[in-house]
Amino acid sequence: MAKKTLDKLPMKGKRVLVRVDFNVPLDENANVTDDRRIRMALPTIKCAMAAGARVILMSHLGRPDGQVKAKYSMKPTATALAKLLGSEVKFAPDCIGPEVEKMVAAMKDGDVLVLENLRFHAGEEKNDETFAKALRGLADLYVNDAFGTAHRKHASTYGVPALMPQGTRAIGFLIEKELKFLGEALEKPQRPFVAVLGGAKVSDKIAVIENLLTKVDRLLIGGAMAYVFMVARGENVGKSKVEREVVKKDGSKKDIIALAKKLLEKIKTSKAEVLFPVDHLVAKAFAADAETDVQGPAMEDDWMGLDIGPETIDLYCEKLADAKTVLWNGPMGVFEMAPFAEGSKKICDTMADVAKRGGVVVVGGGDTAAAVEKFGLAEKMTHISTGGGASLEFLEGKPFETIEIIDEA
Ligand code: AMP
Repeated sequence: MAKKTLDKLPMKGKRVLVRVDFNVPLDENANVTDDRRIRMALPTIKCAMAAGARVILMSHLGRPDGQVKAKYSMKPTATALAKLLGSEVKFAPDCIGPEVEKMVAAMKDGDVLVLENLRFHAGEEKNDETFAKALRGLADLYVNDAFGTAHRKHASTYGVPALMPQGTRAIGFLIEKELKFLGEALEKPQRPFVAVLGGAKVSDKIAVIENLLTKVDRLLIGGAMAYVFMVARGENVGKSKVEREVVKKDGSKKDIIALAKKLLEKIKTSKAEVLFPVDHLVAKAFAADAETDVQGPAMEDDWMGLDIGPETIDLYCEKLADAKTVLWNGPMGVFEMAPFAEGSKKICDTMADVAKRGGVVVVGGGDTAAAVEKFGLAEKMTHISTGGGASLEFLEGKPFETIEIIDEA
C-alpha cells in the first residue's frame, strides 16, 4: 500500500515536524562541503512552507553519541538551507526543552526552524520514550523524509510517529521517490533486470545477493568482493584485499569465506545468471603509479587486484547493454585512483546508455554515488539513492518499520 505524502496533510497554520537527513560533510571551518542531502529535502520543505506550515526540521549529524559536541552542530546546515531557500531559517540551540518550545510557539505560518542535533541526546538512538514525547510535544503533524536513517528505529524516526494519531503522519517527497525507484525495481522490474554489485565488503551485501538472486535475470559481481568468492573456490588472489571475517559487536567472529561458500551453492541452483570477473587489472602495490598487469581468472602471488580486467569489462557491458532495469551498488575497482577507475567508468557509461534508451537505472548510495558523480554521469542515471546502509537494507527486502508506521495514502 502506498503511504500518505505530506501534500495530503492539512498543514496550514500547523506545526509540522519533519525528520530530514542533513547528515552532511563539513570542513574544519564548519562549512557544508556537499549540500546534496539538503538539496534533496527542498521539495518537501518548500511544499510545507507554501502550504503555510510552521516547518520544524530535525536531523542528526555525525556520531556525537549522546553528547553535545560543537563540531556536530546542525547550525551550518541551517545556514546552507537559508542560502538554498533564499529566505530566513531560524536555528534552535537544542532539539527539546523550554527554549525550543518558546521558539516554536513564536513561529509564524511559512517559517522554518532547524533544531540542534538529535544525537546530542542519548535518547535519540535508544528510541527513548521520554525523549520521543518531548519531541512529539513540538508537533501537530509529522513528516519523515530522511531515507538515509529510515532503516534505524530511533526516537525521531519511530518513537515520535508512534505517539501520534492516525491522520497526522506522512512521508516526504524524497522518501516517496526512493521507495518508488528501489521498490519498483525489486517488485515489478522491466526485464532484463541486471544487478551490478561491487565494493570492498561482502558482509553487508550477503543478504542483498540472496534477495536479488530471486529477482534479477543477471547479477554481475566486481570489486574486491569478487575475490572473497575466488578464495571460497580456492583460487589464488595474490595479495588482494579480501574480507575474510567480520568481528561482531559482542567480539565473536563471522567467517565470511564460509558464508561465500554457502552463497556459491545457492548461486548454482538459482535461475539468475551470476557472473564473476574473468580477468583482473592487478598491480604490484596499492598506488596509482604501481606497475600493472592483466591476469585471470586467477592471480599470481605478489600482485593485487585493483579493478576488473578488459575482458570482464567487455563481458559486463555486453550483459548490461539490453537491460531495461539496472541496480548498481559498489564500484568495480579502486575508482578513487585513475588507473583503476576504468571498470567502474565503462560500466557506468553503459548504464547511461541504458537510461538514455528509456531503461531504469538505480544507483545505491555512498561510494557508488561518489563514483558516478566523479565520472560526471550523475544526471544520466534515473535515480541515485541518498541512503547507503538504508538502500542496502531495502535491497535485502526488509520492511522498514519507520515507513510502516506512517499512515496509508
Ligand atoms: P563498499 O563500502 O563495500 O561499497 O566499498 C567501496 C570501496 O571499495 C571503494 O572505496 C573502492 O575503492 C573499494 N574497492 C573496490 N574494488 C577494490 C579492490 N579490488 N581492491 C581494494 N578496494 C576496492
